[in-house]
Parts: sequence; structure tokens; C-alpha cells
Amino acid sequence: MTTAIVIGAGFGGIALAIRLQAMGIGTTLLDNRDKPGGRAYVYEMDGYRFDGGPTVITDPDCLRELFEICGKTMDDYVRLLPVDPFYRLQWEDGEMLDYNNNQDFLEQQIAARNPDDVQGYRRFLAYSQELYREGYEKLGTTAFLKFSRMLVAAPQLVRLRADQSVYARVAKYVQDEKTRQLLSFQSLLVGGNPFATSAIYALIHALERKGGVWFAKGGTGALVRGLISLFNDMGGDVRLNSEVTHIHTRGNRVTGITTADGWIRDADLIASNADIVNTYSRLLRGHKRGRNYGKVLAKKRYSMSLFVVYFGLDMRTPQHLKHHTILFGPRYGELIAEIFGKGGRLPDDFSLYLHAPCVTDPSMAPEGKSSYYVLAPVPHLGHANVDWDRTGPTYAQNILDYLEQHAITGLNAKLDVLHTLTPFGFRDIMNSHLGSAFSVEPILTQSAWFRPHNRDDVLENFYVTGAGTHPGAGLPGVIGSARATAGVVAGDWGLS
Ligand SMILES: Cc1cc2nc3c(=O)[nH]c(=O)nc-3n(C[C@H](O)[C@H](O)[C@H](O)COP(=O)(O)OP(=O)(O)OC[C@H]3O[C@@H](n4cnc5c(N)ncnc54)[C@H](O)[C@@H]3O)c2cc1C
Repeated sequence: MTTAIVIGAGFGGIALAIRLQAMGIGTTLLDNRDKPGGRAYVYEMDGYRFDGGPTVITDPDCLRELFEICGKTMDDYVRLLPVDPFYRLQWEDGEMLDYNNNQDFLEQQIAARNPDDVQGYRRFLAYSQELYREGYEKLGTTAFLKFSRMLVAAPQLVRLRADQSVYARVAKYVQDEKTRQLLSFQSLLVGGNPFATSAIYALIHALERKGGVWFAKGGTGALVRGLISLFNDMGGDVRLNSEVTHIHTRGNRVTGITTADGWIRDADLIASNADIVNTYSRLLRGHKRGRNYGKVLAKKRYSMSLFVVYFGLDMRTPQHLKHHTILFGPRYGELIAEIFGKGGRLPDDFSLYLHAPCVTDPSMAPEGKSSYYVLAPVPHLGHANVDWDRTGPTYAQNILDYLEQHAITGLNAKLDVLHTLTPFGFRDIMNSHLGSAFSVEPILTQSAWFRPHNRDDVLENFYVTGAGTHPGAGLPGVIGSARATAGVVAGDWGLS
């Protein structure tokens, strides 16, 4: 039997491990943490459950497919619940916009801000749907191993103005600044600056409109557990608390791995879902390819980091609160520019994403209580040299005070549990280069063929999956990357 090792049990690693196992490859999945999920780790405190990262589940079909290729049904493992509205957007002047799949509802809100924008929105939606077909359906699960593949895609990318930014394209269609924010902020969810990331990422709007926004019953952690059960049911092997320290090579082939506790295992092929810079510069440091490519990768542009506060309140979720709320601070473009590099320091103001899962699933907290997380995008450690151990507690309190003022009255008095994740956590716990939350920044010159390839160019049986490779971050992205990588493996090993 052909054997494989997948390093890292993030969504990309788990999805790839399932696909390899389903192809008949005996697969071992390793992760350095005590629970699988990677960025989707679950923190549990005093009966509260907090999903560590992804909460907005889009494109449920890409998840369902993982069960189907194994001859199973997703509903037997995990249930997805619809979220409506998808998001609430709110600004400091008290204005709000709710966003869901209902065209009339959306148009009414857009018209209330500027009647002329309704036609513009319809044209934007058509544009976004075309991006979705070209960028997601056709290219999102195909590996770009050769530049010639890029040349095939180029005419469409040029026609769809992939050279422009998401915000620039949105601004061509609608005039109202808040409607522009509604249609452009989504690229932040995959680590992209709406003012710099390629307009291709405006496809996220069509993706959400088509597939909806969902939440797994029991939280994203329940989805992770469902996928791990599926992998186990298929005969896969999971090893947690297993930090890979070394990938062994012979000539231009990888042969096996060593973990921090001295466990050594050989395999016919190895795939890494761990941070891309770390994978090459540390795990493959014994091979010239690892040392050289690690240096190249370290010079790429990386997405921002995040500061996340997980908190439990000794009260039910206030009636007015929605499951997903985006709280825009006083600045949009300028703040994002500072977070993505210009400024070199932590901005004083913030824009926040508030997750209130008990709106959809009260079981995320003990009876009568409620759990939340709030995140602020912040510069990664290469852009702002912040001592998060010192700054973190004050920054967290500022955010909670802001939330008390703008979203949850009486929050501080009801605070029951609190946990924070800072850029140091991304760096030290998840081994992320510069503490980036989303890996290689999704700009045009770092997309498709220009992104680290799903199979290495030199090491013949070494593969990559997850946010650092094509197509990129976000659950649909990393699950698509697993499909792209599995497709290459199937071709290389004559499997289907
Ligand atoms: C706070 C937050 C909120 C987000 N919200 C959303 C959302 O709502 N919707 C959405 O679609 N996306 C969201 N994202 C993005 C999405 O979560 C990520 O892009 C995606 O989960 C990354 O998956 P991955 O496959 O790249 O692996 P990761 O999740 O990065 O997992 C990689 C794993 O490898 C492990 N590892 C690293 N080095 C080693 C080693 N040497 N040995 C063994 N293991 C190792 C890491 O510890 C980690 O467990 C969010 C991200 C964050 C951080």
C-alpha cells in the first residue's frame, strides 16, 4: 500500500488526508497541537465553547463532497444550520446594513442609501458571478504547476480586470461608501486588503449569495470533529501533540519525518499543511531546496495578523445581536492601509468582527450564558514590532469597552471568562511566519502560478496544501487546495 504523511491538521490538511485515504493511500495526519483544526482550534472554559477561528461557513458543497467521495453522508457526521442575515454591518453613526440572500431585501437597503446604486449592484452581482465561475469553479481546485496554465487563464483574468483591486471594481458599480464597504470587506476574511487584493476575490460575494452562510451545530469544532471521524472511519491515522521537526530527503525525494518526541516514520509521499515558510526553511532545512526556497518565500508579502478576544458573559445574548456583526470604526481605507503595512505601528482605532454563536446555537455556552469572540485585524510582526505580552491586556480591554458602548450594554459587568490570541500566538503556537493569520497575501502577483505550488518544483514526492498554496486562505480556499493537491497526487501515482 502506498503511504502518505500529512503535516498539519488544519482544514486543508484534514481534507487532503481524507482524499488520500479515499484514494487508497494509507495516510497519517500529524499536528503539533492537542486538538485538530489548526486555526479552527476550540477553546473550552467553564462550560463555554469558543471556535478559535473560522465561523462563517460558505460553500457547504465543498464540505459535503468530502463525505460523498468516501461514500458517506455529511448529515450523519455534522449538521449545518443556516445563518440569516449573513452579516450585520454597523457604523459608529448608528447606521446598519443587513446582508443575506434575499435580492429584494438587499436592494431595498441599497436603494435607501442611494437609489441609483440598485442598478449598479445588479451589474456588480453579475460581474461577481462571472468571477465565481472563472476564478472559483474553473481555477479554484486546479493546481498551477506550470506557467503555461497561467497563460491559458490570462485572457479571462485580463477581461475580468483582475489587475484592479476589489474596492476599485466595487467603486465602479456603486457610489455609496457604505454600500462599497458592504461589497468589499469580504476579502479581509481571506487575508486580502480590499484596496490591493485582485478583483478576482470579489467572487466571494457570489459565493455567499449562491451557497449561503452556515454554522455547524456545536460550532466549527463540530465540523472538524466530523471530518476527523470520517478520516478515522476510512482507516486514517491521526497523531496529535506531534510537532514535526524534520522532513528527511534522499536526492530529490522526501522519505519520512521526525517529530519533537523522536518519533520517526517513513512514507512514499509527504504533504505539508503547516506554515509554508516554516515548512521549507525549518522542516526541509536539510535539503538545499528547503534552504533556498525558504529564503524566497520569506520575502513574499504576508497577510495581516489578528488579535482575538474570546469571552463568555453571564447573561443571554442580547435580542438585537446578530450571529455575525462587522463594526466599522471611524476609518476604513486608511485603517486597512496601516494594518497592511503603511504606518509601522498598531493603529489606535479598530474595526471589529463580533461572533455571537449562541444566536444560532445556544449550546455554545452554559444555560443562561453566552459566548462570543471579537477580532481586530492588526499588522503582522514584520510590519509593527508590538510587544503583545505587554500591549495585549490593554488592547483587549479597549476592545471590550468599545463593544460595551456599541454592541453589548453592560458587557464588562457580566464578563465571566476571557482568553486572548495575539500575533505571538499565531507565530509561536501555529508556527506562522510573522504571526500572519492568513499566510501569503492574496495579491495578483502572489496568486495562482505565482503562489507556492501544490507540488514542489524540485522534491518530486513533496506536496503542499492549505492557505499558503493555491488557491489560498478561507475554508473554501484551503479545501479547494486539498482537492487541487490530491488531483496532482492522483496523477503522479496513477490513482483516481
Ligand atoms: C480568527 C480567524 C477567523 C477566520 N474566520 C474565517 C471564516 O469565518 N471563514 C473562513 O472561511 N475562513 C476564516 N478564516 C481563515 C481560515 O480559518 C484559514 O484560512 C484556514 O482555516 C487555514 O487552514 P489551513 O489548512 O491552511 O491550516 P491551519 O489552520 O493553518 O492549520 C495548520 C496546522 O498545522 C500545524 N503545524 C504547524 N507546524 C507544524 C509542525 N511542524 N508539525 C505539526 N503540525 C504543525 C498548526 O499548528 C496548525 O494546527 C479565519 C482565520 C482566523 C485566524
